[in-house]
Amino acid sequence: LNRRLNGLGTTIFAEMSALATATGSINLGQGFPDTDGPEEVREAAVRALREGRGNQYPPGPGIPELRTAVAEHQQRFHGLTYDPDTEVLVTAGATEAIAAALLALLEPGDEVIAFEPFYDSYAACIAMAGAVRVPLTLRPPAFRPDLDELRALITPRTRLLLINTPHNPTGLVLNADELRAIAELAVEHDLLVVTDEVYEHLVFSGGHHPLAALPGMRERTVSISSAGKTFSFTGWKVGWVTGSPELVAAVRTAKQYLTYVSAGPFQYAVAEALRLPDEYFDGFRADLLRKRDLLADGLAEAGFRVFVPEGTYFITTDITPLGEKDGADFCRSLPERCGVVAIPNAVFYDNTDEGRSLVRFTFCKRDQVLREAVERLRRL
Ligand code: PMP
Ligand code: GLN
Repeated sequence: LNRRLNGLGTTIFAEMSALATATGSINLGQGFPDTDGPEEVREAAVRALREGRGNQYPPGPGIPELRTAVAEHQQRFHGLTYDPDTEVLVTAGATEAIAAALLALLEPGDEVIAFEPFYDSYAACIAMAGAVRVPLTLRPPAFRPDLDELRALITPRTRLLLINTPHNPTGLVLNADELRAIAELAVEHDLLVVTDEVYEHLVFSGGHHPLAALPGMRERTVSISSAGKTFSFTGWKVGWVTGSPELVAAVRTAKQYLTYVSAGPFQYAVAEALRLPDEYFDGFRADLLRKRDLLADGLAEAGFRVFVPEGTYFITTDITPLGEKDGADFCRSLPERCGVVAIPNAVFYDNTDEGRSLVRFTFCKRDQVLREAVERLRRL
């Protein structure tokens, strides 16, 4: 393993999901639902397969039907207008979009400011690009970014802001003032912005506001989303990028040599999913809100300090009230102690001390699974 990837061995998600399987534990670690997405969307994938649509290499930028559906979705939910031919790119999940964007836009030595804790692929992709990550630490209880601190982190080497809202793992959703301040800094210092919005439909009040909609941002922002979370098909790996023709062309250049194209039949199905009626998106959010409250209340009763998230399907907790100090030790022993798997937030930090006592649980599971997990955690 080269020096750039040093310390990035096995992802925490793979490690913890393997532990869940090996111990037969309830897996509230890795964020994937235990029920699949809509039946009609699954049928659309089967139809495409049967009818021979997408079984051979689809077009590099993605099939036109999906690019059009992505553009329509951006318009419908966020009032953003993108040309499906030049301003939309289909990727193998948001993960590839993040990798391709960072590899395409960064020079070695460029500095990238990202909220810490950061989703684990950010650190790896910044490293693969030979760039330098500069963490802006989000601190409990609210995990709101300190905008003066952000300003102070900007140097002449800063090239890009890597933003994630709603934010995994804290559940932070950036508010209008924060978005405006970030946009103003990006314009003032002529920075590029990559924004990861995979939880755009999981904001529990107030809705999601994309950075690309703010003044001066459209031409400097690469927006990323994915079908994995919104439609509960994390295994399909269909994601997308929207942005100016110049930025999308740059990301497409990198994507060509990462995967060349993304899997065909699923693209037809996701094009249909993006056109589902509002009731689907409202129902999805309402369902997850109920699950959030179920798990948040249960974790509080079990003695955790709970930071109730404004968005995403993750809850960050502090284990200090349980007499515990170290989230990594806690998560490694939890399966044996009570048959539940969670994720230690420290793995998402460069400043690991900041996240040492924090542990993340996902609530994208069936109600009875969440209830059983809570029962087990109460016996700790
Ligand atoms: N970004 C964030 C913040 C995530 O939580 C995830 C996990 N779904 C991804 C990106 C990756 O998305 P995908 O599964 O579409 O590659
Ligand atoms: N995004 C999911 C999470 O945060 C997992 C994705 C992955 O396994 N890479 O749990």
